[in-house]
Amino acid sequence: MTLPPLDEECPECGGEGKVGGVKTATFMQTAVQCPRCHGLKRAPTEDGKALLAFLRLHGSVR
Ligand SMILES: [Zn+2]
Repeated sequence: MTLPPLDEECPECGGEGKVGGVKTATFMQTAVQCPRCHGLKRAPTEDGKALLAFLRLHGSVR
């Protein structure tokens, strides 16, 4: 059984896991956890999202 790629490098943070973090002379903005990948640095593809939806629906079946 083969699966298509289920995740990819997060396009929101570029694989950093954090966004922001701009530093200037007068102001320092703290980098915050990427809202898209939640710091995982990878984001699910459409196939990954479909699998997650599948697991939500069927994952509790024992
Ligand atoms: Zn991200």
